[in-house]
Amino acid sequence: MAGVVVWRCDCGVEYKAVFNSSSKGMAVRCATPTCKTRHIITGQVAQLFVQTLAEGPWRELILSDVIVESRAVSGQS
Ligand SMILES: [Zn+2]
Repeated sequence: MAGVVVWRCDCGVEYKAVFNSSSKGMAVRCATPTCKTRHIITGQVAQLFVQTLAEGPWRELILSDVIVESRAVSGQS
């Protein structure tokens, strides 16, 4: 089952991820170099978009640049 999740990073950038439900999740690193925030997606990310300006255009990110790890959704880190 596919889903879409939108979140706002601590640095103010908005992200939108299209993902397929899975027993494994992914940690997505913020694309802002100075920002260390990670966001956990509870599935396999298919596409990821970033919006750096409010009401601005969504730009697609290259997944390999921002996916830092795959992890079990149910596990504690
Ligand atoms: Zn950030």
